[in-house]
Amino acid sequence: MTPNEPIGRFRFMNEQRVNLDGFATPAPELGLVAFDGPNDPKPSIKISDGRVVELDGKSESDFDAIDEFIARHGLDLNLAPEAMAIDSLEFARMLVNPNDSRKDIVRLAAGMTPAKLAEVLSRLTAAELVIAMTKMRARRTPSNQAHVTNRSDDPLLLAADAATAAAFGFRELETTVPVAGDAPSNAVAVSIGAAVGAAGVLVQCSVEEAAELALGMRGLVSYAETVSLYGTEQIFIDGDDTPWSKAFLTSAYASRGIKMRVTSGGGSEALMGGAEQCSMFYLEARCVALARAIGSQGVQNGGIDAASVAGAVPGGVRSMMAENVMVMLRNLEACTGNDALMSESDVRRTSRTHPIFIGGSDFINSGFGSIQRYDNMFGPSQWNAEDIDDFLAMQRDWGVDGGLRTADETEVARLRKRATDAVTAVYSHLGLGDFSQTWADQAVDAAGSKDVTAGDLMLPLNAARTIMETNVTMLDVISALAENGFDLEAERCLNMLKARVVGDYLQTSAIFDEEMNVLSLVTDPNEYSGPGTGYQPTAKRQAEIDNIRQQKSVEDLRNEQKIFASQNLRVRGSAEISYDPRDVVIGVSPATGREIWMTLSGLSVTDVIGELMAGLEEEGCVGRIVRINDSLDLGMIGLTAARLSGSGISVGLQAKGTALIHRRDLAPLANLELYSVAPTITRELYRMLGINAGRHAKGATPEPVRNPYSDEAIEARYHTKVVSLVAIERNCVTNASPETLEVV
Ligand code: CA
Repeated sequence: MTPNEPIGRFRFMNEQRVNLDGFATPAPELGLVAFDGPNDPKPSIKISDGRVVELDGKSESDFDAIDEFIARHGLDLNLAPEAMAIDSLEFARMLVNPNDSRKDIVRLAAGMTPAKLAEVLSRLTAAELVIAMTKMRARRTPSNQAHVTNRSDDPLLLAADAATAAAFGFRELETTVPVAGDAPSNAVAVSIGAAVGAAGVLVQCSVEEAAELALGMRGLVSYAETVSLYGTEQIFIDGDDTPWSKAFLTSAYASRGIKMRVTSGGGSEALMGGAEQCSMFYLEARCVALARAIGSQGVQNGGIDAASVAGAVPGGVRSMMAENVMVMLRNLEACTGNDALMSESDVRRTSRTHPIFIGGSDFINSGFGSIQRYDNMFGPSQWNAEDIDDFLAMQRDWGVDGGLRTADETEVARLRKRATDAVTAVYSHLGLGDFSQTWADQAVDAAGSKDVTAGDLMLPLNAARTIMETNVTMLDVISALAENGFDLEAERCLNMLKARVVGDYLQTSAIFDEEMNVLSLVTDPNEYSGPGTGYQPTAKRQAEIDNIRQQKSVEDLRNEQKIFASQNLRVRGSAEISYDPRDVVIGVSPATGREIWMTLSGLSVTDVIGELMAGLEEEGCVGRIVRINDSLDLGMIGLTAARLSGSGISVGLQAKGTALIHRRDLAPLANLELYSVAPTITRELYRMLGINAGRHAKGATPEPVRNPYSDEAIEARYHTKVVSLVAIERNCVTNASPETLEVV
């Protein structure tokens, strides 16, 4: 240790992943504070002749553009006097009280100013936010959104991955581009892939606002989300925007029947140096009020791109969840963040998502990277393809519907092939480009763009130009699909266009289920009012949540064991007491050689016995294999064996691999040496146990063997197997006396 170096414990702690994260000392003057900034106003409203003349401590003459817009369009002035008079803590309690209905709360919230709702929600603890989210989200059925992107903008891979994401249950797919010019090609490829995967999957291509609207108007995408709002006027001005321009854009989407929500999120103003000394949460309260005022269907918030800024201050993670609940109070669709990776620590990122996952939201993730981290062109998400199995296991653990399901491998392979076939056909038909068979084969099999080496990186750009120059619309894509035998996909894409005319998916929190029914605030309202109410998965859906592909039954394990069944052990006769001092009995458990032939470390039982015998032989002893039939307890097996043994020493071995050395004068539960962690025991270690048993037999005191070092969750990995193997052992227990075995 050098003088300036921390001690070992701190050197070790410093190396942990969480210390790659940034943590800020709160600095309210920079907006680096979650709640209660020094400039945050006290809630207030004054209405004169039906006109707001004071809002949150500011008189009309001092209104900035955001105040002005909220005052004119964002508040229900009939309700405001009643709503603003309610004590904030009293209203906070209504959010968690099952006897206060969502409808009443939403009605009152419409009369509350940004500062008022900020004050209300700052009073809720983390646990209360979970209840509030459970109760206040608009749609009863939770859902999830995926990012589908890749570094090459490879249309075949995009389509295959879009189909895959749909198979895993995602109901909105968001793509974007590393190369701006590729956007139209990405939109087409993802829309085709989504249609291959399932009916009713919404698709978005997040690019510059005008380009994105153009894609929407051509029908190439079916929703938009990345219209950004900010909580201070300065940041709007910096972005060459105003609340009015955003409202105009919002109306443009609505006029074409395209679903649309805005994006905001605490910490973004601080990140851009324009927080005006206000807290992140108060500024976000302004954004959410503005979202309501401009007529957006919903809000994607909860930190979003600035999630790590919010996550860097005390209470910041709680404030991100409170932002989501605020969106729900404003009766808008909540797409609850958990997109941009907030932390390098698996523990912190799980902790950040988990309460929302438990509470359930319209979209748990506003961008689960359904592709690998390196292919996520938004930057790594909080959750990525690396984590899909974790997420599915978490759903199963808690019985929670996080919007995903296990996808069958054969089906995913089929879908990926069909998606690449469909894109190949459409691109060729419309003159957008030709793909080689090798490229297509690689895209079907690829886990990411690194696996596709045959791609032509110029193809997407050329395809995109042709789409724009020849005015390709979704109708052209649909007829290309239909003319090339992709009738199902053509129909699914056409149904997305028809839905625009009907307009039901312009309702709050609208998604389609796989039968193209709209689930929204109107058709699928959340009416949670305490235990036994609200969203309950159907039996079919619960089975999807519960049945992950990794689960194994006792029958599965029996079949696994049969692989080794040919290496048989034969009974030679009943076992007698020996008086030979070199005799060491290896007592094996009842199922050994009957139903169990393989240990938890993957060795065959006969190989283990072979190593023990060899170890004994090295010490000049003679091993004898005896099956103890009347107990599955390793101590009793060892002791019974020791009492038969001429040396008084035995090795006890359970078929699953746990082993010990016993002596005839010890209590059953005692032992001389023990390998308790069967999955980690190697051939060499069994040999060593044999050697030590031989040394004990000769009256020596050898250095005891030890379990090998391990920092893995051995128990988590093997306990279910152990339960099954023990059950199998128990079925083999009989009154039969010990019998001598030999290896065939
Ligand atoms: Ca998103």
